[in-house]
Amino acid sequence: MLVVQKYGGSSVANPKRIRRVAQRVVEMHRQGHQIIVVVSAMGDTTDKLIELVKEITTNPSEREMDRLLSTGEQVTIALLAMAINSIGEDVISLTGPQVGIKTDSIHSKARIIDIDTGRLQQEINDDKIIVVAGFQGINEENDITTLGRGGSDTTAVAIAASMNADLCEIFTDVDGVYTTDPRMVPEARKLDAITYDEMLELAHLGAVVLHPRAVECAKLYNIPIHVRSSFNHNLGTIVKEVTDLEKDMVVAGIAYDLNVTKIGIFDVPDEPGIAHKIFSSLAEKNVNVDMIIQSAMRNQVNSISFTVSQTDLRHALNVVENIKDDIGYKGYTHDQDVAKVSIVGAGMVSNPGVAAMMFEALALENINLEMISTSDIKVSCIIKKELADIAVKALHKKFNLGDENDSVCCCS
Ligand code: ADP
Ligand code: ASP
Ligand code: MG
Repeated sequence: MLVVQKYGGSSVANPKRIRRVAQRVVEMHRQGHQIIVVVSAMGDTTDKLIELVKEITTNPSEREMDRLLSTGEQVTIALLAMAINSIGEDVISLTGPQVGIKTDSIHSKARIIDIDTGRLQQEINDDKIIVVAGFQGINEENDITTLGRGGSDTTAVAIAASMNADLCEIFTDVDGVYTTDPRMVPEARKLDAITYDEMLELAHLGAVVLHPRAVECAKLYNIPIHVRSSFNHNLGTIVKEVTDLEKDMVVAGIAYDLNVTKIGIFDVPDEPGIAHKIFSSLAEKNVNVDMIIQSAMRNQVNSISFTVSQTDLRHALNVVENIKDDIGYKGYTHDQDVAKVSIVGAGMVSNPGVAAMMFEALALENINLEMISTSDIKVSCIIKKELADIAVKALHKKFNLGDENDSVCCCS
Protein backbone atom coordinates (compact mmCIF):
# COMPACT_ATOMS: atom_id res chain seq x y z
CA MET A 1 0.00 0.00 0.00
CA LEU A 2 1.28 3.52 -0.83
CA VAL A 3 0.60 5.81 2.11
CA VAL A 4 1.00 9.60 2.31
CA GLN A 5 1.24 10.90 5.87
CA LYS A 6 1.38 14.56 6.87
CA TYR A 7 2.58 15.74 10.27
CA GLY A 8 1.72 19.29 11.34
CA GLY A 9 3.80 21.81 13.30
CA SER A 10 2.95 20.67 16.81
CA SER A 11 3.61 17.02 15.89
CA VAL A 12 7.22 17.91 15.00
CA ALA A 13 7.67 20.80 17.47
CA ASN A 14 10.85 19.46 19.13
CA PRO A 15 13.49 16.72 18.69
CA LYS A 16 11.62 14.30 20.95
CA ARG A 17 8.46 14.62 18.86
CA ILE A 18 10.43 14.31 15.63
CA ARG A 19 11.95 11.05 16.94
CA ARG A 20 8.46 9.80 17.83
CA VAL A 21 7.18 10.62 14.32
CA ALA A 22 10.20 8.78 12.90
CA GLN A 23 9.28 5.74 14.96
CA ARG A 24 5.70 5.81 13.71
CA VAL A 25 6.77 6.17 10.08
CA VAL A 26 9.29 3.35 10.36
CA GLU A 27 6.72 1.02 11.97
CA MET A 28 4.42 1.59 9.00
CA HIS A 29 7.26 1.01 6.54
CA ARG A 30 8.26 -2.22 8.30
CA GLN A 31 4.69 -3.46 7.85
CA GLY A 32 5.50 -3.47 4.14
CA HIS A 33 4.02 -0.14 3.06
CA GLN A 34 5.59 2.51 0.84
CA ILE A 35 5.61 5.85 2.62
CA ILE A 36 5.77 9.51 1.61
CA VAL A 37 5.82 11.81 4.64
CA VAL A 38 5.00 15.52 4.33
CA VAL A 39 5.96 17.79 7.21
CA SER A 40 5.34 21.34 8.42
CA ALA A 41 7.78 23.69 10.07
CA MET A 42 8.55 22.90 13.73
CA GLY A 43 6.02 24.36 16.20
CA ASP A 44 5.49 28.08 15.65
CA THR A 45 8.56 28.54 13.43
CA THR A 46 6.55 30.16 10.61
CA ASP A 47 5.04 32.74 13.01
CA LYS A 48 8.51 33.48 14.37
CA LEU A 49 9.88 34.04 10.86
CA ILE A 50 7.03 36.49 10.18
CA GLU A 51 7.84 38.34 13.42
CA LEU A 52 11.46 38.54 12.33
CA VAL A 53 10.46 40.27 9.12
CA LYS A 54 8.57 42.94 11.08
CA GLU A 55 11.88 43.96 12.63
CA ILE A 56 13.33 44.51 9.15
CA THR A 57 10.54 46.10 7.08
CA THR A 58 6.80 46.77 6.93
CA ASN A 59 6.76 46.21 3.19
CA PRO A 60 8.61 42.98 2.40
CA SER A 61 8.98 41.69 -1.15
CA GLU A 62 6.62 38.78 -1.64
CA ARG A 63 9.31 36.75 -3.37
CA GLU A 64 11.72 37.10 -0.45
CA MET A 65 8.92 36.42 2.03
CA ASP A 66 8.23 33.05 0.38
CA ARG A 67 11.95 32.29 0.25
CA LEU A 68 12.13 32.91 4.01
CA LEU A 69 8.95 31.09 5.08
CA SER A 70 9.83 28.01 3.03
CA THR A 71 12.96 27.48 5.17
CA GLY A 72 10.94 26.28 8.19
CA GLU A 73 9.80 23.08 6.48
CA GLN A 74 13.32 22.49 5.12
CA VAL A 75 14.71 22.26 8.64
CA THR A 76 12.11 19.64 9.60
CA ILE A 77 12.69 17.39 6.59
CA ALA A 78 16.41 17.14 7.28
CA LEU A 79 15.92 16.41 11.00
CA LEU A 80 13.18 13.85 10.38
CA ALA A 81 15.25 12.12 7.69
CA MET A 82 18.18 11.90 10.15
CA ALA A 83 15.87 10.50 12.83
CA ILE A 84 14.48 7.85 10.45
CA ASN A 85 17.94 6.98 9.26
CA SER A 86 19.20 6.54 12.80
CA ILE A 87 16.54 3.83 13.32
CA GLY A 88 18.08 2.04 10.35
CA GLU A 89 15.77 2.80 7.42
CA ASP A 90 16.71 4.14 4.02
CA VAL A 91 15.28 7.64 3.66
CA ILE A 92 15.62 10.79 1.55
CA SER A 93 14.41 14.32 2.23
CA LEU A 94 13.19 16.49 -0.65
CA THR A 95 12.14 20.15 -0.84
CA GLY A 96 9.06 21.17 -2.84
CA PRO A 97 11.16 22.20 -5.86
CA GLN A 98 13.13 18.94 -5.73
CA VAL A 99 9.87 17.00 -5.86
CA GLY A 100 8.79 19.13 -8.82
CA ILE A 101 5.74 20.75 -7.22
CA LYS A 102 4.93 23.35 -9.86
CA THR A 103 2.74 26.28 -8.84
CA ASP A 104 1.45 29.55 -10.26
CA SER A 105 3.30 32.74 -9.31
CA ILE A 106 0.95 34.19 -6.71
CA HIS A 107 3.39 34.40 -3.83
CA SER A 108 2.04 33.54 -0.36
CA LYS A 109 -1.04 31.81 -1.80
CA ALA A 110 0.25 29.91 -4.80
CA ARG A 111 -1.82 27.08 -6.28
CA ILE A 112 -0.30 23.76 -7.29
CA ILE A 113 -0.53 23.30 -11.07
CA ASP A 114 1.27 20.03 -11.48
CA ILE A 115 3.52 17.56 -9.68
CA ASP A 116 6.25 15.83 -11.62
CA THR A 117 6.10 12.38 -10.07
CA GLY A 118 9.33 11.07 -11.65
CA ARG A 119 11.59 11.68 -8.67
CA LEU A 120 9.06 10.43 -6.13
CA GLN A 121 8.49 7.26 -8.15
CA GLN A 122 12.20 6.63 -8.52
CA GLU A 123 12.85 6.90 -4.74
CA ILE A 124 9.81 4.73 -3.97
CA ASN A 125 11.09 2.10 -6.43
CA ASP A 126 14.38 2.15 -4.49
CA ASP A 127 12.29 1.34 -1.37
CA LYS A 128 13.19 4.62 0.32
CA ILE A 129 10.98 6.48 2.76
CA ILE A 130 10.53 9.97 1.30
CA VAL A 131 10.23 13.04 3.51
CA VAL A 132 8.85 16.08 1.68
CA ALA A 133 8.77 19.74 2.78
CA GLY A 134 5.14 20.87 2.83
CA PHE A 135 3.71 24.30 1.96
CA GLN A 136 6.10 25.06 -0.91
CA GLY A 137 6.55 24.73 -4.63
CA ILE A 138 8.31 26.37 -7.53
CA ASN A 139 6.93 28.70 -10.22
CA GLU A 140 7.80 29.04 -13.91
CA GLU A 141 10.69 31.40 -13.12
CA ASN A 142 12.17 28.78 -10.75
CA ASP A 143 11.32 30.92 -7.72
CA ILE A 144 10.10 29.34 -4.50
CA THR A 145 6.42 29.90 -3.71
CA THR A 146 4.32 29.06 -0.66
CA LEU A 147 0.76 27.77 -0.63
CA GLY A 148 -0.78 29.88 2.15
CA ARG A 149 -0.85 29.27 5.91
CA GLY A 150 -1.67 25.66 6.67
CA GLY A 151 -0.70 24.70 3.11
CA SER A 152 1.25 21.54 4.03
CA ASP A 153 -2.09 19.73 4.12
CA THR A 154 -2.49 20.61 0.45
CA THR A 155 0.99 19.34 -0.40
CA ALA A 156 0.07 15.99 1.14
CA VAL A 157 -3.27 15.61 -0.63
CA ALA A 158 -1.83 16.77 -3.96
CA ILE A 159 0.99 14.22 -3.69
CA ALA A 160 -1.52 11.52 -2.74
CA ALA A 161 -3.56 12.41 -5.84
CA SER A 162 -0.64 12.54 -8.24
CA MET A 163 0.89 9.29 -6.93
CA ASN A 164 -2.46 7.52 -6.78
CA ALA A 165 -1.86 6.70 -3.11
CA ASP A 166 -4.02 4.20 -1.27
CA LEU A 167 -4.26 6.25 1.90
CA CYS A 168 -3.78 9.91 2.93
CA GLU A 169 -3.44 10.56 6.65
CA ILE A 170 -3.24 14.05 8.16
CA PHE A 171 -1.73 13.83 11.64
CA THR A 172 -2.41 16.79 13.90
CA ASP A 173 -2.74 17.75 17.56
CA VAL A 174 -6.46 16.89 17.97
CA ASP A 175 -8.23 13.55 17.47
CA GLY A 176 -9.98 14.56 14.25
CA VAL A 177 -12.54 17.03 12.95
CA TYR A 178 -14.89 18.19 15.71
CA THR A 179 -18.28 19.92 15.67
CA THR A 180 -16.28 23.08 16.38
CA ASP A 181 -12.78 23.99 17.58
CA PRO A 182 -12.35 21.74 20.66
CA ARG A 183 -9.92 24.27 22.11
CA MET A 184 -12.66 26.88 22.25
CA VAL A 185 -15.60 24.61 23.17
CA PRO A 186 -14.65 21.67 25.41
CA GLU A 187 -18.06 20.03 24.71
CA ALA A 188 -17.24 19.80 20.97
CA ARG A 189 -17.72 16.26 19.66
CA LYS A 190 -15.43 14.40 17.29
CA LEU A 191 -17.12 13.44 14.02
CA ASP A 192 -16.41 9.94 12.67
CA ALA A 193 -17.00 11.20 9.12
CA ILE A 194 -17.77 14.43 7.30
CA THR A 195 -18.50 15.12 3.62
CA TYR A 196 -16.07 17.00 1.38
CA ASP A 197 -18.63 19.78 0.91
CA GLU A 198 -19.18 20.36 4.60
CA MET A 199 -15.46 20.16 5.36
CA LEU A 200 -14.72 22.55 2.51
CA GLU A 201 -17.12 25.13 3.95
CA LEU A 202 -15.78 24.69 7.49
CA ALA A 203 -12.19 25.06 6.25
CA HIS A 204 -13.01 28.15 4.17
CA LEU A 205 -14.84 29.65 7.11
CA GLY A 206 -11.90 29.35 9.49
CA ALA A 207 -11.60 25.75 10.80
CA VAL A 208 -7.82 25.50 10.44
CA VAL A 209 -7.74 21.74 11.05
CA LEU A 210 -7.59 21.29 7.24
CA HIS A 211 -6.40 23.70 4.56
CA PRO A 212 -9.32 24.50 2.20
CA ARG A 213 -7.35 23.66 -0.93
CA ALA A 214 -6.44 20.25 0.51
CA VAL A 215 -10.16 19.50 0.76
CA GLU A 216 -10.79 20.87 -2.77
CA CYS A 217 -8.07 18.61 -4.13
CA ALA A 218 -9.34 15.58 -2.21
CA LYS A 219 -12.86 16.16 -3.54
CA LEU A 220 -11.65 16.64 -7.08
CA TYR A 221 -9.69 13.38 -7.10
CA ASN A 222 -12.04 11.57 -4.70
CA ILE A 223 -9.33 10.82 -2.13
CA PRO A 224 -10.60 10.07 1.37
CA ILE A 225 -8.57 11.90 4.04
CA HIS A 226 -8.10 10.46 7.50
CA VAL A 227 -7.58 13.32 9.99
CA ARG A 228 -6.17 11.95 13.25
CA SER A 229 -3.87 12.67 16.17
CA SER A 230 -0.14 12.05 16.09
CA PHE A 231 -0.22 11.75 19.88
CA ASN A 232 -2.25 8.51 20.04
CA HIS A 233 -3.47 5.68 17.80
CA ASN A 234 -7.21 6.52 17.95
CA LEU A 235 -9.21 6.51 14.74
CA GLY A 236 -9.92 10.08 13.63
CA THR A 237 -12.35 11.54 11.11
CA ILE A 238 -12.77 10.39 7.51
CA VAL A 239 -13.43 13.20 5.04
CA LYS A 240 -15.19 11.71 2.02
CA GLU A 241 -17.92 12.13 -0.61
CA VAL A 242 -20.89 10.90 1.42
CA THR A 243 -21.22 9.96 5.04
CA ASP A 244 -23.34 7.07 6.15
CA LEU A 245 -24.78 8.86 9.14
CA GLU A 246 -28.28 7.54 9.70
CA LYS A 247 -29.60 11.02 10.17
CA ASP A 248 -28.20 14.03 8.40
CA MET A 249 -27.47 16.70 10.92
CA VAL A 250 -28.91 20.06 9.92
CA VAL A 251 -25.79 21.72 11.29
CA ALA A 252 -22.62 19.62 11.13
CA GLY A 253 -20.27 22.19 12.58
CA ILE A 254 -19.50 25.73 13.62
CA ALA A 255 -16.49 27.71 12.43
CA TYR A 256 -15.04 31.06 13.37
CA ASP A 257 -12.48 33.26 11.67
CA LEU A 258 -10.60 36.01 13.48
CA ASN A 259 -8.48 36.87 10.43
CA VAL A 260 -11.14 39.16 8.96
CA THR A 261 -11.34 42.88 8.18
CA LYS A 262 -14.43 44.81 7.16
CA ILE A 263 -13.90 47.57 4.61
CA GLY A 264 -16.66 50.12 3.95
CA ILE A 265 -16.66 52.54 1.00
CA PHE A 266 -19.27 55.23 1.42
CA ASP A 267 -21.04 57.71 -0.84
CA VAL A 268 -20.38 55.65 -3.94
CA PRO A 269 -22.27 56.90 -7.06
CA ASP A 270 -25.30 54.71 -7.84
CA GLU A 271 -24.34 53.83 -11.44
CA PRO A 272 -23.93 50.66 -13.50
CA GLY A 273 -20.35 49.33 -13.53
CA ILE A 274 -19.23 50.66 -10.15
CA ALA A 275 -19.20 47.28 -8.38
CA HIS A 276 -17.40 45.80 -11.36
CA LYS A 277 -14.67 48.46 -11.13
CA ILE A 278 -14.14 47.95 -7.41
CA PHE A 279 -14.11 44.17 -7.38
CA SER A 280 -12.22 43.62 -10.63
CA SER A 281 -9.47 45.95 -9.33
CA LEU A 282 -9.29 43.89 -6.13
CA ALA A 283 -9.21 40.63 -8.12
CA GLU A 284 -6.36 41.95 -10.28
CA LYS A 285 -4.28 42.30 -7.11
CA ASN A 286 -5.29 38.77 -6.03
CA VAL A 287 -7.28 40.02 -3.06
CA ASN A 288 -9.97 37.49 -2.12
CA VAL A 289 -13.19 39.25 -1.23
CA ASP A 290 -15.63 37.39 0.96
CA MET A 291 -18.94 38.99 2.03
CA ILE A 292 -20.29 41.98 0.09
CA ILE A 293 -23.14 44.23 1.13
CA GLN A 294 -24.47 47.21 -0.83
CA SER A 295 -26.79 49.43 1.15
CA ALA A 296 -30.04 50.79 -0.29
CA MET A 297 -29.51 53.88 -2.44
CA ARG A 298 -30.13 57.33 -0.87
CA ASN A 299 -29.53 60.64 -2.71
CA GLN A 300 -28.04 58.82 -5.74
CA VAL A 301 -25.27 57.29 -3.61
CA ASN A 302 -24.70 53.88 -2.01
CA SER A 303 -22.32 52.44 0.49
CA ILE A 304 -20.53 49.18 -0.27
CA SER A 305 -18.99 47.05 2.47
CA PHE A 306 -16.98 43.88 2.04
CA THR A 307 -14.64 41.67 4.00
CA VAL A 308 -11.10 40.52 3.20
CA SER A 309 -8.58 38.55 5.23
CA GLN A 310 -6.26 40.63 7.39
CA THR A 311 -3.38 39.23 5.40
CA ASP A 312 -4.79 40.92 2.28
CA LEU A 313 -5.65 44.21 4.03
CA ARG A 314 -2.61 46.20 2.87
CA HIS A 315 -3.24 45.29 -0.80
CA ALA A 316 -6.99 45.90 -0.48
CA LEU A 317 -6.57 49.41 0.95
CA ASN A 318 -4.03 50.29 -1.77
CA VAL A 319 -6.57 49.26 -4.40
CA VAL A 320 -9.38 51.26 -2.75
CA GLU A 321 -7.20 54.40 -2.67
CA ASN A 322 -6.06 53.94 -6.27
CA ILE A 323 -9.63 53.80 -7.62
CA LYS A 324 -10.87 56.83 -5.69
CA ASP A 325 -10.65 59.31 -8.57
CA ASP A 326 -12.05 56.87 -11.07
CA ILE A 327 -15.08 56.00 -8.95
CA GLY A 328 -15.61 59.23 -7.10
CA TYR A 329 -16.56 57.89 -3.68
CA LYS A 330 -16.36 60.16 -0.63
CA GLY A 331 -14.43 58.03 1.84
CA TYR A 332 -13.72 54.62 3.29
CA THR A 333 -13.20 52.94 6.65
CA HIS A 334 -11.81 49.64 7.79
CA ASP A 335 -12.42 47.64 10.95
CA GLN A 336 -10.14 44.81 12.06
CA ASP A 337 -12.00 44.30 15.30
CA VAL A 338 -14.45 41.83 13.75
CA ALA A 339 -14.86 38.07 13.46
CA LYS A 340 -16.92 35.80 11.30
CA VAL A 341 -18.95 33.00 12.90
CA SER A 342 -20.63 30.43 10.70
CA ILE A 343 -22.87 27.40 10.92
CA VAL A 344 -22.37 24.69 8.27
CA GLY A 345 -24.51 21.70 7.33
CA ALA A 346 -25.74 19.95 4.21
CA GLY A 347 -29.16 19.46 5.84
CA MET A 348 -29.78 23.20 6.02
CA VAL A 349 -31.05 23.54 2.48
CA SER A 350 -34.21 21.54 3.21
CA ASN A 351 -34.82 22.98 6.66
CA PRO A 352 -36.23 26.50 6.71
CA GLY A 353 -35.71 28.45 9.90
CA VAL A 354 -32.12 27.37 10.58
CA ALA A 355 -30.80 30.90 10.00
CA ALA A 356 -33.50 32.25 12.30
CA MET A 357 -32.36 29.81 15.02
CA MET A 358 -28.82 31.12 14.61
CA PHE A 359 -29.94 34.76 14.86
CA GLU A 360 -32.05 33.95 17.92
CA ALA A 361 -29.09 32.35 19.73
CA LEU A 362 -26.91 35.37 18.97
CA ALA A 363 -29.66 37.85 19.91
CA LEU A 364 -30.08 36.15 23.30
CA GLU A 365 -26.40 36.89 23.91
CA ASN A 366 -27.02 40.51 22.87
CA ILE A 367 -24.66 40.16 19.89
CA ASN A 368 -25.12 42.62 17.04
CA LEU A 369 -24.90 41.22 13.48
CA GLU A 370 -22.90 43.59 11.27
CA MET A 371 -23.12 41.50 8.08
CA ILE A 372 -24.90 38.28 7.12
CA SER A 373 -24.37 35.93 4.19
CA THR A 374 -26.05 32.62 3.40
CA SER A 375 -25.72 29.72 0.97
CA ASP A 376 -27.40 26.32 0.75
CA ILE A 377 -25.09 24.86 3.33
CA LYS A 378 -23.95 27.75 5.53
CA VAL A 379 -24.91 30.95 7.29
CA SER A 380 -22.18 33.40 8.30
CA CYS A 381 -22.37 36.53 10.45
CA ILE A 382 -19.82 39.26 11.06
CA ILE A 383 -19.76 40.28 14.72
CA LYS A 384 -17.38 42.08 17.13
CA LYS A 385 -14.20 40.05 17.56
CA GLU A 386 -14.35 39.95 21.36
CA LEU A 387 -17.76 38.21 21.17
CA ALA A 388 -16.61 35.33 18.92
CA ASP A 389 -16.02 32.98 21.83
CA ILE A 390 -19.48 33.62 23.36
CA ALA A 391 -21.13 33.32 19.94
CA VAL A 392 -19.51 29.97 19.05
CA LYS A 393 -20.40 28.49 22.45
CA ALA A 394 -24.00 29.74 22.19
CA LEU A 395 -24.43 28.30 18.67
CA HIS A 396 -22.90 24.97 19.65
CA LYS A 397 -25.44 24.75 22.46
CA LYS A 398 -28.37 25.98 20.37
CA PHE A 399 -27.91 23.18 17.83
CA ASN A 400 -27.09 20.58 20.56
CA LEU A 401 -23.91 19.62 18.77
CA GLY A 402 -22.27 18.20 21.88
CA ASP A 403 -24.86 15.41 22.00
CA GLU A 404 -24.97 13.08 19.01
CA ASN A 405 -28.42 11.73 19.83
CA ASP A 406 -29.96 15.07 20.53
CA SER A 407 -28.50 17.26 17.77
CA VAL A 408 -31.00 19.07 15.55
CA CYS A 409 -31.46 16.73 12.60
CA CYS A 410 -33.33 16.66 9.30
CA CYS A 411 -35.77 14.06 10.55
CA SER A 412 -36.67 15.90 13.75
P1 ADP B 1 -1.25 21.31 12.34
O1 ADP B 1 -0.09 22.10 12.83
O2 ADP B 1 -1.19 19.87 12.73
O3 ADP B 1 -1.53 21.51 10.87
P2 ADP B 1 -3.39 23.15 12.98
O4 ADP B 1 -3.15 24.05 14.16
O5 ADP B 1 -3.22 23.73 11.63
O6 ADP B 1 -2.51 21.85 13.18
O7 ADP B 1 -4.86 22.51 13.06
C1 ADP B 1 -5.28 21.86 14.25
C2 ADP B 1 -6.09 22.81 15.10
O8 ADP B 1 -7.31 23.16 14.42
C3 ADP B 1 -6.58 22.23 16.41
O9 ADP B 1 -5.59 22.35 17.41
C4 ADP B 1 -7.84 23.04 16.70
O10 ADP B 1 -7.60 24.04 17.67
C5 ADP B 1 -8.17 23.73 15.38
N1 ADP B 1 -9.55 23.53 14.94
C6 ADP B 1 -10.39 24.52 14.51
N2 ADP B 1 -11.58 24.03 14.18
C7 ADP B 1 -11.52 22.69 14.38
C8 ADP B 1 -12.46 21.63 14.21
N3 ADP B 1 -13.70 21.83 13.76
N4 ADP B 1 -12.06 20.37 14.53
C9 ADP B 1 -10.81 20.14 14.98
N5 ADP B 1 -9.89 21.10 15.18
C10 ADP B 1 -10.23 22.37 14.88
N1 ASP C 1 4.32 26.13 8.22
C1 ASP C 1 3.18 26.65 7.50
C2 ASP C 1 2.25 27.38 8.47
O1 ASP C 1 2.54 27.49 9.64
C3 ASP C 1 2.45 25.61 6.70
C4 ASP C 1 1.79 24.52 7.51
O2 ASP C 1 2.10 24.34 8.70
O3 ASP C 1 0.96 23.79 6.96
O4 ASP C 1 1.24 27.89 8.05
MG1 MG D 1 -2.51 23.03 9.79
